[in-house]
Amino acid sequence: MTAKRGKDEGDPYLELRLSMVERQLEARGIKDRRVLEAMRDVPRHLFVLPAYRERAYEDCPLPIDERQTISQPYMVAWMTELLCLKGDETVLEIGTGSGYQAAVLSKLARFVYTVERIPALAESARERLRDVGITNVEVVVSDGTEGLPEHAPYEGIIVTAGSPSVPPLLVEQLGDRGRLVIPVGSSGVQMLTVIEKRGDRTITSEEGSCVFVPLVGKYGWER
Ligand code: SAH
Repeated sequence: MTAKRGKDEGDPYLELRLSMVERQLEARGIKDRRVLEAMRDVPRHLFVLPAYRERAYEDCPLPIDERQTISQPYMVAWMTELLCLKGDETVLEIGTGSGYQAAVLSKLARFVYTVERIPALAESARERLRDVGITNVEVVVSDGTEGLPEHAPYEGIIVTAGSPSVPPLLVEQLGDRGRLVIPVGSSGVQMLTVIEKRGDRTITSEEGSCVFVPLVGKYGWER
């Protein structure tokens, strides 16, 4: 028996998680095998508040501390798939929240920097990531609308909060052929937008509407 199977057998949420991947992700068109595998692997129930553990695999976002949310599983999978990761990338996430999205990314890229503006959320995300044994994620407290220039360029940047416009420094910190996935629009509804860098040009595509908590900062919302 493999160590992996041994671990899974002790996980009372495994069945719920596999069913979430099948019914919410595969059934709705998520195709990237590696994304599906990562979402089968990461124990989402350990990233929600204890009071919501039984609901961790439901088809919806859930509240976390500081009036923020952990995104719906489908949204995590969709945004991750849009990054087109192969495994050797350095990825930047803006909006750590619970740390769940970062945990999924950690299975798909070489290293993940994730930036959170609220120190208490950053600290509890760090603890969760440590508890589940993830070592290729660094949680940084700062205003992510300015990116994280010290580790740029990034092959992928994912913003998990809604922005009124595309923060220019994020585009600047993308490597050539890098992709930025970001919800852009009003505080009520946003367009999930992908910006790919090609030399000194960018190619923008709009993928569909979504709803996120606001990205608050210098190049985001004021408050
Ligand atoms: N990716 C998270 C969910 C994100 S909720 C998860 O998997 O659980 C959005 C998060 O973005 C919140 O935690 C919020 O505090 C954070 N945020 C908002 N504006 C930010 C900014 N300018 N820089 C960094 N984080 C920000």
